[in-house]
Amino acid sequence: MDYYSNQINRLVEELASLPGIGSKSAQRLAFHILNMPRENVEKLSLAITEARNNVQYCRECFTLTDNEICPICKNDERDHRTIMVVENSRDLAAYEKTGQYKGVYHVLQGAISPMLGIGPGDIRLKELLQRLQQEVDEVIIATNSSLEGETTAMYISKLVKPTGIKVTRIASGVPVGGDLEYIDEVTLLRALEGRKEL
Ligand code: ZN
Repeated sequence: MDYYSNQINRLVEELASLPGIGSKSAQRLAFHILNMPRENVEKLSLAITEARNNVQYCRECFTLTDNEICPICKNDERDHRTIMVVENSRDLAAYEKTGQYKGVYHVLQGAISPMLGIGPGDIRLKELLQRLQQEVDEVIIATNSSLEGETTAMYISKLVKPTGIKVTRIASGVPVGGDLEYIDEVTLLRALEGRKEL
């Protein structure tokens, strides 16, 4: 294989390692990139490098942000006594898109999955308990309705109950196994409004 082909193969391989990108899409993207103006390619690769270098977990809620504290946690107009627990930053974004939720979040960065060997110590549960030592009125558990999401919800409710803080779970109008980010805003709002105390 000649020099140039190797570089193209490398690009295809790197792209194909991304989630949801099969080898066909990777090839299409690779040739698209190779046909892009040089400065656009530089902008793209700089955006990737800079985001990767500067994005960190919010010190409060553990969502991904490029500040020490994310804009939601920083916002005094949000209700800091209501904490919605979600699995990842994409789920947070889904609820933010509804524009109706005024509380703050706690992003677990995962869910308990015995099958994948992910235990309670591997997600941000300890940090959630620490936050509950401040004044909190309600913890809304909005993990997915997958097996992992339900297991995590149960685990959290057991952890939070002894503190006397109200624990609720979003309504199960959310399709089973459905990723929160794919659910439309009306369904999300209905799930939030129909939450039940655990
Ligand atoms: Zn935050």
